[in-house]
Amino acid sequence: MLPSAPTGVFAVQCPNPKCRKFMLVEERDQGKVVNCLICKSPIKVGARTTDASRRG
Ligand SMILES: [Zn+2]
Repeated sequence: MLPSAPTGVFAVQCPNPKCRKFMLVEERDQGKVVNCLICKSPIKVGARTTDASRRG
């Protein structure tokens, strides 16, 4: 489990298979692209829940 984090931030994972670093981003950064602090790879910030595969 994650340590107690302040409301409004969540974790995203670097897509670089050689990095895979988790970083905390703010909810207001959803839909933006941030650069990984470690490898500088662009990380697309999606929704904090992974419910995208849902079909209707
Ligand atoms: Zn990275």
